Amino acid sequence: LRILGIETSCDETAAAIVTRLADGSAVTEADVVLSQLDEHSAYGGVVPEIAARAHVDALDTLIEEALQRAGITLREVDAIAATSGPGLIGGLLVGLMTGKALARATGKPLYAINHLEGHALTARLTDGVTFPYLMLLVSGGHTQLVLVKGVGAYERWGTTIDDALGEAFDKTAKLLGLPYPGGPAVERAAASGNPKRFAFPRPLVGEARLDFSFSGLKTAVRQAAESIAPVSDQDISDICASFQHAISRTLKDRIGRGLQRFRETYPEITAPALVVAGGVAANKDVRHTLDTLCAEHGFRFVAPPHHLCTDNAVMIAWAGLERMALGLPADELTVAPRSRWPLDQDAKALLAYGK
Ligand code: ATP
Ligand code: MG
Ligand code: FE
Repeated sequence: LRILGIETSCDETAAAIVTRLADGSAVTEADVVLSQLDEHSAYGGVVPEIAARAHVDALDTLIEEALQRAGITLREVDAIAATSGPGLIGGLLVGLMTGKALARATGKPLYAINHLEGHALTARLTDGVTFPYLMLLVSGGHTQLVLVKGVGAYERWGTTIDDALGEAFDKTAKLLGLPYPGGPAVERAAASGNPKRFAFPRPLVGEARLDFSFSGLKTAVRQAAESIAPVSDQDISDICASFQHAISRTLKDRIGRGLQRFRETYPEITAPALVVAGGVAANKDVRHTLDTLCAEHGFRFVAPPHHLCTDNAVMIAWAGLERMALGLPADELTVAPRSRWPLDQDAKALLAYGK
């Protein structure tokens, strides 16, 4: 089974060709991603209208390039998978409409994929993780702890009640005058900082529910920066290090509870896994915290390679292949993009297929 994947939900235009072999493993024949970072960085964040136009400009060429790299023509794919939500509606329209047009022109089935499902299933492609497992998605737009029970069967155990974790990094960077995107800049500054200098809040720590909150942390960072004048490079490093420290402690508590709940839910599973996805997964401090936590709880920690943690089309292609392999139906060409689309919404519908 060979599929063309298309991703345009945020600020990456991406196309991929992935083939699933009979034994369930997969071969990535092409994986092309065009980041719009340069177009948005002057604005300090993603501008939806610029993103949509950039997807229009790039997508056709990227799909051509993916086919060329795979050494095939469009006729040689068995299906087309396109992200249809959640995300910026302009970008989603570009990708999904392109997918529909290609499906219509070739008579191939179209799979309209939930972007979050793509993130959730990636670890099965890269590491062969088996159901059920826990997935932590930490990106610029999402912070969710999800129980992945099967293809199409997800339970959201926790989510952020305000900012996403990547967003907290980006806003903190902006407050401190560091460049966009903020995550890598904050991490770099933190490397030479004192994590104990500022006692930043650790929101929701100790609470039984598994949600996250990061907006108070951002406010505390602003107050810390305002309390010092002028702010030196060392001050910035100390603030960044203290910020990361607060995040590590928060994740330790929140995710630790999640792992415990997984144990209680599935006592029979002896080697469970926690899978991480999203751009923040690149952060060494975050990784180290999760890795250590997993070791303490007897979980396997699975972090796919960075280019498959951030937005890409391989994960969209793979989600389509997982559906095909289960014999799940393709989508009608009338399917509409959805800017909001909670991952657990369609769970019951797909569970009816018994997997
Ligand atoms: P989505 O729509 O899935 O949320 P996104 O484009 O917002 O997509 P990603 O591309 O997965 O998210 O990740 C980008 C985010 O990851 C940004 O907020 C960025 O600051 C953060 N990030 C990247 N590298 C690091 C790092 N080293 N440390 C912390 N955060 C990082
Ligand atoms: Mg992105
Ligand atoms: Fe994403």
